[in-house]
Amino acid sequence: MRTTVEIPIQGMDCAECTLHVQKAIAGVAGIVRVDVFLSSEKAVIDLDPQIATQKMIEKAVQKAGYQVGSGTKDQDGGFQASQYTRPILTLFGTIFGFVLFVVVAGEWLGLFSAVTERVPWPIMLGLVLVGGFPIFKNVIRASFRGQVLAHTLMTVGVLAAIIVGEWATATVIVFLMRAGDYTERFTAERARRAVKDLASMAPQTARVEREGQEIQVDIANLHLGEIVVVRPGEKIPVDGEIVSGYATIDQAAITGESMPVEAAPGSQVFAATIARLGSLRVRATHIGPDTTFGRVIKLVESAEANRADVQRVADKFSGYYLPIVALIAALTFLIRRDPLATAAVLVVACSCSFALATPIAMLASIGAGAKRGLLIKGGKYLELLSRADILLIDKTGTLTMGKPQITHLIAANGKPDNWEIVSLTGQQEISANHLQVLKLAACAERYSEHPVAEAVRQSAYQQDLPSCLPQEFNAIPGMGVQARINGNTVKVGNWRMMAEMQQNQDAEATSRIDELLTQARQLEAQGKTLLFVAQDGLISGLLAAADTLRAEVPGAIAAVRELGIQQVELLTGDNDRTAAALVESLIQGSHNSKPLPGLRYRADLLPEDKITIVKEYQDQGYTVIMVGDGVNDAPALAQADVGIAMGAAGSDIAIEAAHIALMREDWELVPEVLRISKRTMRVVKMNIAFTAVYNLLGLSLAALGFLPPIFAAAAQSIPDLGILANSSRLLKQKDTRQRGAHAHP
Ligand code: ADP
Ligand code: MG
Repeated sequence: MRTTVEIPIQGMDCAECTLHVQKAIAGVAGIVRVDVFLSSEKAVIDLDPQIATQKMIEKAVQKAGYQVGSGTKDQDGGFQASQYTRPILTLFGTIFGFVLFVVVAGEWLGLFSAVTERVPWPIMLGLVLVGGFPIFKNVIRASFRGQVLAHTLMTVGVLAAIIVGEWATATVIVFLMRAGDYTERFTAERARRAVKDLASMAPQTARVEREGQEIQVDIANLHLGEIVVVRPGEKIPVDGEIVSGYATIDQAAITGESMPVEAAPGSQVFAATIARLGSLRVRATHIGPDTTFGRVIKLVESAEANRADVQRVADKFSGYYLPIVALIAALTFLIRRDPLATAAVLVVACSCSFALATPIAMLASIGAGAKRGLLIKGGKYLELLSRADILLIDKTGTLTMGKPQITHLIAANGKPDNWEIVSLTGQQEISANHLQVLKLAACAERYSEHPVAEAVRQSAYQQDLPSCLPQEFNAIPGMGVQARINGNTVKVGNWRMMAEMQQNQDAEATSRIDELLTQARQLEAQGKTLLFVAQDGLISGLLAAADTLRAEVPGAIAAVRELGIQQVELLTGDNDRTAAALVESLIQGSHNSKPLPGLRYRADLLPEDKITIVKEYQDQGYTVIMVGDGVNDAPALAQADVGIAMGAAGSDIAIEAAHIALMREDWELVPEVLRISKRTMRVVKMNIAFTAVYNLLGLSLAALGFLPPIFAAAAQSIPDLGILANSSRLLKQKDTRQRGAHAHP
């Protein structure tokens, strides 16, 4: 037995805290896997409920120095009061600390003398104890558990100052430690904000029709299939289908694009989007966490689990940082015999900055991305994207609109080898034989979900052909379908699907097929997909399907190449000639930009071939991005280093399968997410470099005695603030898409 539970955790202020909690929970019996998230303040635990209990986990978390349960749930009593009084105390403490700092700094600079000397030491001791109480309490508790915190070293620094009689210095350090604490909490809070903002956009209540009345209910009390009523300007509370009413819908919450779309009865709508200019009645198909928006929030919240490599390294390093600082402090004391320099070394230590440098930048980008229709499932994928070499593209539904149409039919007229081609787009008369082929195909394709199948059904419907049901049905991925219709075996699919018919044929039949293929070649040369139709082992005709290339694709591919992707390759189940024609039109489409070198294709692929190709490139050491629709190429997306699903809104499978899900079908999001990855990694590297240089400088100056302890204490928050300011740039993602720049058809 295995279940997954989520437990809110309180009191985690910095990234190293999540490691403490993680370790504590992992130590409980019956825990299979645990991930602790700073951004959403919770632990997600896979456990065996027969061994591990909530109580045991709670105990372990408490033992590690944290609390179970979220602060926001606590609506009455002491919590609210302390929230109210804390800012006042903080303000008072900050002002006091600042004044004290100025005085002591002034004394050190010789501006005025003997101010603090006149304050009797017991008062100073009182200030140290009162001001530092929460920190000392933590440090002592941690010491009993055998943990050494950054605050432990600082406390030793305070003690060192007291021992040499520097009471004022000790007091200033204590107050600045508290200020640093707040800075750190503020920084972590800000990092979570983008994610929390997103969660707060989720609808909370719905107006539901029950027993002929409209009543307002909590989302949690809504049932599937119920009809909710949405008034103009309101947020749609569920994923569902419009039963009645018309509206224009602002889908920005899902797709990031505020361009409204028209919705009518039968249209699918998404939770958290806004109905403008019109009232709607919507039948709920997904509620709460099961809606597309609910999934996005959940995945963004758990994105922290997919840590980037840089973060692993930084986390590891911050584990070594405190011992290194302790060693430097010890050396300073032994060699220089200077307790104040030693204190300064201990106080300047701020291990949190290393741990914060990566996740703060990643969270900012992930949070900002989610608001713009880019669901990024972890910093890991931003890191991999930023150094990707190869982009593989699954053709159908990705490069093309995915809404093919049947343009031509070929069937025999009179004699069996008298193949005749008719166009469905013109005014041409369509013979009964041709209609029979179309009817057969539509019947066989009845239950297929492939886009071409929909095209065939649609075409049959337009020709007013009666609908029919196959007795048996079988889909063969990458090839076609096989069905039983009125006792006959009917096959519809590509040439590979017809393979057995190529063998054991007499000369007459072979020449008949050759004749058909000659005509078929011309259609393929126009980039059309051929669907052969065969009945009981005899080819009776074929259908040609054309799909439109997405207009923005050539420009987007050119942009991707400019962003350093060496090679772009189309993968398709279509045959070579169709694929070649498509690539040709892609190159034509990019006439305004540079030609597209490195644009290749591979045709005649089965779904498993696509996985093999991804693996081959990976084995050669390349980092591979794969873009697909996430539906029939999900395994290849999962195999790629970064699998990107296009137009994932409303598609559960696509959202699950991909590492990055693009909520709207817009190719410009592909270079955009690449740009975001590069920008994010630049910020991460800057953060780490800044922290490293800062700490190195701080430690050296402190050890050499150039940095008095009070300045060391004042400076300890600088890296946190620097990281925060630097990473905040990622929250304001500017729209770098150049609209209209490549809007050529
Ligand atoms: P891709 O997504 O790369 O175009 P698929 O694996 O989806 O490739 O399909 C490959 C080819 O198999 C299609 O181009 C089509 O010729 C054929 N095919 C797949 N499914 C069907 C179907 N339901 N009916 C007819 N042909 C099909
Ligand atoms: Mg496909």
